[in-house]
Amino acid sequence: MATLVDFHCHLDLYQEPGAFASARDSKAYVLSVTTTPSAWRGTLARSGDCRRIRTALGLHPQLAHVREPECGLFEELLSQARYVGEIGLDGSDEYRMHFGSQMRVLERILRACSRVGGRVLSVHSRGASAEVLDVLERHSNAGVAVLHWFTGTKSELRRAVDLGCWFSVGPAMLATKRGRELATQIPRNRLLTETDGPFAKVGGQPLQPAHVGQAVEGLSKVWRTDTESVQEGVLGNLRELLRAAGIDGR
Ligand code: MN
Repeated sequence: MATLVDFHCHLDLYQEPGAFASARDSKAYVLSVTTTPSAWRGTLARSGDCRRIRTALGLHPQLAHVREPECGLFEELLSQARYVGEIGLDGSDEYRMHFGSQMRVLERILRACSRVGGRVLSVHSRGASAEVLDVLERHSNAGVAVLHWFTGTKSELRRAVDLGCWFSVGPAMLATKRGRELATQIPRNRLLTETDGPFAKVGGQPLQPAHVGQAVEGLSKVWRTDTESVQEGVLGNLRELLRAAGIDGR
């Protein structure tokens, strides 16, 4: 059986202990994203020597207004991190007031990524799809962007595809009709699965990497195909993404 892929999970933010251990036990490939540069080293250390878990260096847009001073630390650590995330913009009502700070942080991160090259980026775009695409277009050498839990319009999705973006899709997105409709528009060779745990929940329970099979099941219904071929397709996509970014995925 092919291995599962959870390309966006916050292992360091679960209330209950044991998220790292259960991620290791899940046998899934996990992109463990962080929300502040100061969390990166500790989160990396907690994944131990598990090669299936990769730790991304991030500065979450919802924290940009308080963590902007950590941009220097981000730049310092970037030479050690091939994966970057969670980064992006959040245009929802609670965070729109900090959009200026979010934009400065994202621009600075993408400039740093362009200088080093070869990065894979896990990107948040809630309520700001068009703005995120504008920024990515201006920084076309920043790396391969994977738009996580994309909630834009169909035309924004087409634009993202044209810009070379990838997408990570989770059970929470596939639980809504609109999310499923968007998922049908994503090219199957640009798609990865994710949980976005512990923020994303199903039945009130935070999702863990072991639950990413729910995304595979959701996609198999959307695409009217069996779960095994979805899983194999996603794993093949992960290999292709790493190849495109020049990362040794072994
Ligand atoms: Mn997230």
